[in-house]
Amino acid sequence: MLQDEITYLKGVGPQRAEALISELHIRTREDLLLYYPFRYIDRSQITTVNKINGESIAVQLIGKIISLKEIGTGKSKRLSGIFRDDTGDIELVWFKAPRWLLQHVKVNESYVLFGKPTEFKGKYNFSHPELELLEDARIAQGSELKPVYGTTQKLITKGLNSNGIAKLTRVLVEECKSFIQENLPDEILQRYRLMSRHDAIAQVHVPTNQQLLESARRRLKFEELLFIQLRLAKQKLNQTKLERGVVFQKVGDLFNRFYHEHLPFELTNAQKRVVKEIRIDVARGHHMNRLIQGDVGSGKTVVALLAALLAIDNGYQVCMMVPTEILAQQHYATLSSLLENIPVRTELLTGSTPKSKRRHLLQDLLNGDLNFIVGTHALIEPVVQFKNLGLCIIDEQHRFGVAQRAQLWKKADLPPHVLVMTATPIPRTLAMTLYGDLDISVIDELPPGRKPIVTQWKSDSRRIEVFQFMENEISKGRQVYVVYPLIAESEALDYKDLIDGYESIVRRFPLPNYHVSIVHGQMKSDAKEYEMKQFVEGKTQIMVATTVIEVGVNVPNATVMVVESAERFGLSQLHQLRGRVGRGGDQSYCILMTGVKVSNDSKTRLETMVRTNDGFEIAEVDLQLRGPGDLAGTQQSGALELKIADLAKDQVMLSAARELALEITDEDPNLSQPKNQLLLQELLKSSETKSDWSKIS
Ligand code: ADP
Ligand code: MG
Repeated sequence: MLQDEITYLKGVGPQRAEALISELHIRTREDLLLYYPFRYIDRSQITTVNKINGESIAVQLIGKIISLKEIGTGKSKRLSGIFRDDTGDIELVWFKAPRWLLQHVKVNESYVLFGKPTEFKGKYNFSHPELELLEDARIAQGSELKPVYGTTQKLITKGLNSNGIAKLTRVLVEECKSFIQENLPDEILQRYRLMSRHDAIAQVHVPTNQQLLESARRRLKFEELLFIQLRLAKQKLNQTKLERGVVFQKVGDLFNRFYHEHLPFELTNAQKRVVKEIRIDVARGHHMNRLIQGDVGSGKTVVALLAALLAIDNGYQVCMMVPTEILAQQHYATLSSLLENIPVRTELLTGSTPKSKRRHLLQDLLNGDLNFIVGTHALIEPVVQFKNLGLCIIDEQHRFGVAQRAQLWKKADLPPHVLVMTATPIPRTLAMTLYGDLDISVIDELPPGRKPIVTQWKSDSRRIEVFQFMENEISKGRQVYVVYPLIAESEALDYKDLIDGYESIVRRFPLPNYHVSIVHGQMKSDAKEYEMKQFVEGKTQIMVATTVIEVGVNVPNATVMVVESAERFGLSQLHQLRGRVGRGGDQSYCILMTGVKVSNDSKTRLETMVRTNDGFEIAEVDLQLRGPGDLAGTQQSGALELKIADLAKDQVMLSAARELALEITDEDPNLSQPKNQLLLQELLKSSETKSDWSKIS
């Protein structure tokens, strides 16, 4: 019944069915049942025109459209109407109004209008309001809560606007309710006080009242999150418990010698904890897949190095992969100097490694003479073969695709342990979903003695002051970054900003006393390298750049980060940029420059930057502002395409679902117990996971 094609549902037919499939992937009755409304309009709340003010959020009005006409020309051409109720008139506008609107909206008939009023030149209007004939609104629904469904232009032309879809789902719920099967065991329903599945699905489409609707949504969100978490828990189980991994049995000589004699500082407690987590992981005989999250400057490198020494102590090789050539060089330099008195052979391999050197390196990797290799994407190439690769360390993980990582796995008989390090903090709940199959370690403590970076937000009009400040810092021997936004590599305007900025800085800070570097994406890579090097070596005092420098460069002597047009950057980007300073012992500053007018969201971002240096807090604000889909590195993740739950808003529920999933898979890894059969069936239903679960059953 539920698998019947949608065509045969009353009110659908072949044409609409075709549109439902192509536009929304709705093929069966079940697909439509699981197509939930994204919002509800409370029809008991009707406002009047005279009550509309600046605080009004989305409101409903009942009245008539007394006129409707096209006005303006060219770009300002629009459809304008006057809506009237007993208390007054208000304007309606549609830009790029589709013709069908003009044809279908009936003047002098009563409508229910839904929308958010906006202010324009001291008057309020509605742009692109939703309209429904009062008559239709009355008959469409018995309930006060009207569901709103996502739809598309093509569906609308076939009569399937939100109301059209609502009519279908009403019929569907009537016909199918008794066929909807429970997919959660009784025990779980009772423990979490969840509504039954068929009631919940009926309620989300045809709500009786607010309270039942809330319970229904809660039930469906929990279900959705639980199955995601069960899948992830299973994947993790396969990797960590079921799949054999390299064993690093002992903590050997190299590790101990480095730890006790050559560590230049005492590890922070957070670093110690993470090293311990890694040590336990790699000794268990299962594959380690661990993500280390640590804010910029939290000291991830030395943790990675200790892990590498563990591997080498046990006779294995290690590779460290980073996203850029400059970073690779820096890491290589840092690691080599830390390892100065330790008998470990470390080498660098990048795209610019000379051919002959490269040939030797590859040979030594293959015969095992080389213990530790640091490099860029060049490491992925098939020609790079190891004798016995035991550990892969990946820095700044979000720049590498999953597929690229997988290439590294293939370089050994047993999958090497994997340590992913990221400086982009991700809110805990988001990490649970995005990296639910990884173990997560958090370095949530900065090394002692760091002075928090002072962040200020200044408008462009105070540039003279900012230049003066730069001059003062430079006179103390410090260096300064000035960063310009670059949204798309091709945007000529952005380059003009950058070049203009560079020229005004050179005028203000002229030769021979001052030297200014410039780096941007349109430069040849050797020119870029050269300029960067000049700055790293302290030969230039100012680095004017685009976000090329965002990732990883380490110049401890740089104390000022000036970000131009800061309103155009995302929060995590601003935080990354700020992380370029404050790397030495000196007080550092981040100055965010903007125009006078900025949007509310930009304001929140800038104020957050001024208020806190805590990357996790910043990530949390970012999640609330942008939603999970837009966060750095999360774009391609299908894990975030949720039907009803919201990772930003349903964090408590997500944690509960995660805990339950781990509890269940701990106790019954294959879901073979009778009480878990409903769960297993549901998981087997989605073809994508089929192989995963059938492998073990
Ligand atoms: P990130 O986590 O951003 O990669 P790094 O590993 O580059 O951070 O460390 C940043 C700086 O802090 C380096 O100069 C490093 O030597 C120093 N550092 C790391 N751990 C400690 C510690 N426990 N005490 C003092 N300094 C430390
Ligand atoms: Mg680092």
